[in-house]
Amino acid sequence: MEINTNTLDLEKIIFTSKNILFIQDIDGVCIPLVKDPMNRKLNKDYIFAVKQFSDEFFVLTCGEHEGIRGVNRIIERTLGNKVSPKERGLYLRGLAACGVEYQNNKGEISFEGISEKEIKFLSSVPDIMRPKFIKIVKDLFPEIDDKSIDYHIKKSICNTRFSPTINFNSLFEIDKNDLNKRRDIQDRFEKMMNDIILYAESLGLRNSFFLHISPNLGTKNGIEIIKRSTANDIGSTDIQLLLKGALKDSGVLCLLNKFIGDKTGRKPFGDDFNFRKAPTNLEAKISFCKKYIREKDMPIIIGIGDTVTSQKSLDKNSFLRGGSDRSFLEFIQLLGLEFGIKNNIIFVDSSYGEVYRPSIKESGLKGITDKQDPLKFDLVFQNGPEEYINWFIKMAKRRYQIKN
Ligand SMILES: [Mg+2]
Repeated sequence: MEINTNTLDLEKIIFTSKNILFIQDIDGVCIPLVKDPMNRKLNKDYIFAVKQFSDEFFVLTCGEHEGIRGVNRIIERTLGNKVSPKERGLYLRGLAACGVEYQNNKGEISFEGISEKEIKFLSSVPDIMRPKFIKIVKDLFPEIDDKSIDYHIKKSICNTRFSPTINFNSLFEIDKNDLNKRRDIQDRFEKMMNDIILYAESLGLRNSFFLHISPNLGTKNGIEIIKRSTANDIGSTDIQLLLKGALKDSGVLCLLNKFIGDKTGRKPFGDDFNFRKAPTNLEAKISFCKKYIREKDMPIIIGIGDTVTSQKSLDKNSFLRGGSDRSFLEFIQLLGLEFGIKNNIIFVDSSYGEVYRPSIKESGLKGITDKQDPLKFDLVFQNGPEEYINWFIKMAKRRYQIKN
């Protein structure tokens, strides 16, 4: 794939098309990646640019909107105010928790398709994790003291409402250059998360949860493959316990349902559609759209993400392709082809943050995509979130002027 960094073609589409929709990931795209998620920062002008795009923009993230770790807190910090984002509608509109948690720009949250029992179990997960975490860390780092363990618990266990997460970044720092240690951390905590799913099953929650690993090497038999650390790629840095069906490509369906519903007064998939009612595979999702969405209602979609991976398999005969943005970007690309629309896929190189990832400037698209990869990027921001944000702000301004 050629790396296109020229924004002109896409700008023409943005300035001249009637019906467009941005669907954008958050971390690594408009927020530079950091080791400690509590230190994430958002650009103020970006927040206002999103507001200018109005109903033509949604976020789609596996992070969450609400809670102490939520993106809403970053917005309040950036604007130095807890009231004005709500009053002025400056929260990022769209889906979080991989398609489960919707909010409008006033920060009003809704979530459908989840049972009381599932919510209750999710809220208990951080407590279930804690003793297991302590045991694993003591096994791996026998010298560690209790105070340090406490520190790492705070950094590593994220008590997010819909997606309790274990993050490895702070543990990776303990023996920075020990590759085997990094792999041990990944292996042990993957097992811990699988044990939690078994425990949920023992409580009768049989088809409720799955593990989302970031970044991953695609899926095998419906299970995500962990990306083990190598000398020059940190590999998977976190594992989330997610509600079954919480997938970004299902999120695209929910967002389209809302977008078209707002425009035409009729939601194509019905008023009670949610992520749990989405068809499971990509082909079925496409047929579903073709069945229910009229061609004239389908917008040109611009999908933006930063987490796409491709790695040669061990036998070197094939590629393992994954990454948490892959499914939704592939879906958007395919949807465009099926509807005869040129949808646009933007890749933002997030390797310049604190988290080590393959960098396009250093090694091209290796580790990200390959020649046979069905997913093609129409535009690449190789200088990372800052470059993307500056461009995005310009686009929002122009589009706003044209429309108003
Ligand atoms: Mg991302």
